[in-house]
Amino acid sequence: MAEISDLTQRPASSIALLEEMERTYKDLPMEAIVKQDILRQGIHFLPESFQVLTPYKSKDYFIFSFDHIPLADLKDGADTKAPEEIKISGGHFGLLKTVISTRNNPNSPYKMKLKEGVPTLFLDETEIGSAEYPPIPSWYRHKTKSGKLPGEIAPVIEWGYLIYLTVFRNCQYFGKDEECAYCDINHNYRQQKGAGRPYTGVKDVDDILEVFSWIDSEDEIAKVYTITGGSVLTNLKKKSEVDFYLQYPLAIEERFPKRWMGKLVAQAFEKEDCQKFKDAGIQIYHPNYEVWDKNLFEKICPGKASWIGYDRWIRRVVESAEVFGPENVIPNFVGGVELSEPHGFKTVGEAINSTKQGLDFFMSKGIVPRFTAWCPEPYTTLGQQAGPPLVYFCELLRAWKETFELYKLPVPPGYGEPGPGRAVFSVSAFMDVIGYSGRN
Ligand code: SF4
Repeated sequence: MAEISDLTQRPASSIALLEEMERTYKDLPMEAIVKQDILRQGIHFLPESFQVLTPYKSKDYFIFSFDHIPLADLKDGADTKAPEEIKISGGHFGLLKTVISTRNNPNSPYKMKLKEGVPTLFLDETEIGSAEYPPIPSWYRHKTKSGKLPGEIAPVIEWGYLIYLTVFRNCQYFGKDEECAYCDINHNYRQQKGAGRPYTGVKDVDDILEVFSWIDSEDEIAKVYTITGGSVLTNLKKKSEVDFYLQYPLAIEERFPKRWMGKLVAQAFEKEDCQKFKDAGIQIYHPNYEVWDKNLFEKICPGKASWIGYDRWIRRVVESAEVFGPENVIPNFVGGVELSEPHGFKTVGEAINSTKQGLDFFMSKGIVPRFTAWCPEPYTTLGQQAGPPLVYFCELLRAWKETFELYKLPVPPGYGEPGPGRAVFSVSAFMDVIGYSGRN
């Protein structure tokens, strides 16, 4: 393990740092290392970088803000023109095409500029790669009978592969004592409404079916849909949490049976409730445990801890594998939040040791956790803070890859092709490292 004990050392991004990681982590593709660094730092889009000839899909703010500063403070067009994702290639490290989610940060050392008419990402003066922006699906041109835009009802991410249905754009875990400390779902809803944008709080099944009819007839790229949203503690529209979320796959699968792979990101449910979603046609279940350490779970996810509890949450994740099959249970954790201040681990080594225990616990049972890279959003309980150093993410990717290979697990379904140059999952590099055999 590299010298990773001192968290007070958070070296700024630089080519020298990336080259050091390249030498130290030969088992990780450079595409993954650079991707994690860009995700942790965000991107500063210069106004010129929006002057491209081909129309592209901008951020739909599909669930959280995933920005480092408030929407109202984003200048020079970044609030409306930043692309959903970028696909970079070439540059100093000769990267294969790498898809990365956009997190606006005007203070980032990563600057998107225009070079000979092509958006190009720079770190200081060094070119990291030329960039493509995602295409706009043809069906984005329609409007529903109720007057809604497809990008608001059923936006696509992962370069068009995943249709993301945040059917409830709030969470009933509310305020500091209940909201997960890294999550800005409620705040993002308020800032989107405050900016005067159409941003539906609870999505209508009929709107979704209408958009899906266009996707069905016009789209060849989308393969998967995700149903998700905030937690429901009492009821929503007179429905329990299970009944509320269940209505969506029931309607979609009845109308378009198995046309796409259905996923559910929701709380950890008891087996009987999991069975209802399985019977409705959901194939992949993401009961996200967020952070493995029990003490941190209680501090960082206070609502989940008090309403469900850590032990029950973990038990439910494990038991849900009996319903969906272990390879179809893919719980997420928030990579790096175990290093957050004030409650997190003080060293990268401690954080990795803890998180690796969680990986081993689940992967030994055939369940493959995945992670998203923590983005310290300003309106969250944790607020703006430096976030983990790059070496943490390199250690995390190594731990994930080693454990995944140790148990000889299959490629997680519903994420497209794995490996550098092919992965489309854009909020962490776990798919980019699969199958990589290392370099000299
Ligand atoms: S359960 Fe936590 S992470 Fe999920 S939406 Fe609510 S506050 Fe956010």
